[in-house]
Amino acid sequence: MIYLKSNHEIGIVRKNGAILAEIFDRLADFIKPGVTTAEINRLTEEVFAKHSAIPSFLGYRGFPAAACVSVNEVVVHGIPSARRLEEGDIVSVDIGAYRNGFHADAARTYPVGDIAPPVAKLIKAAEDAFFAGCNMAKPGGRVSDISNAVQLSAEAAGFGVVRDMLGHGIGRSLHEDPPVPNYGGAGKGPKLRHGMLLAIEPMLTLGDCRIVTSKIDGWTCSTIDGKPASHYENTVAITREGLQILTISVSP
Ligand code: MG
Repeated sequence: MIYLKSNHEIGIVRKNGAILAEIFDRLADFIKPGVTTAEINRLTEEVFAKHSAIPSFLGYRGFPAAACVSVNEVVVHGIPSARRLEEGDIVSVDIGAYRNGFHADAARTYPVGDIAPPVAKLIKAAEDAFFAGCNMAKPGGRVSDISNAVQLSAEAAGFGVVRDMLGHGIGRSLHEDPPVPNYGGAGKGPKLRHGMLLAIEPMLTLGDCRIVTSKIDGWTCSTIDGKPASHYENTVAITREGLQILTISVSP
């Protein structure tokens, strides 16, 4: 069941998205060699508290933290810990903000100090794939038009696209219909309509696109070959007036 949102509801999600954008801006300065993934989580908690927002992921199916913090080969769902980031690592931070009955969801991948050029390309390619998907996200199109554009963009850049994790509808629930795969042929799936809120979230890999979930913690998803992965996500609104990205900083 796809729930379409009113302009008022989209406005609530945009305000929640601004909290995520503020966190991402602060993390860009905060993340450096020596910082632990638990410290990244703590920073997100401070900003959520300042805005009286609930971190969407805390307690979601038992997830133990406000933020998913995923280092190098960890694709998503990394649990914050005492692990210290080192020069040359990359770290992705996936967060959701819940307030006034609605969620916003977004992720960024950050370099830690100087990183190898192919890994820098991997980060940029996830962002590019997201925007390629956005270009196809118009009323009257189909969900898989987005999927197809994401896959073509990522593969043209020479990277793998994770199949086992999907983007999704979002609103009163963190995960709603429709699923938004990051691969597949165009022209399939539900029609895109004014008022649809989607979390579009390409996950790209330097090597093999297959992933494996830790049997130890039940959360940590890593690439099967141990090579790095990047993740870029925003919550977007499909509207007649065009696509609106709700989780990005708006310059004054
Ligand atoms: Mg998401």
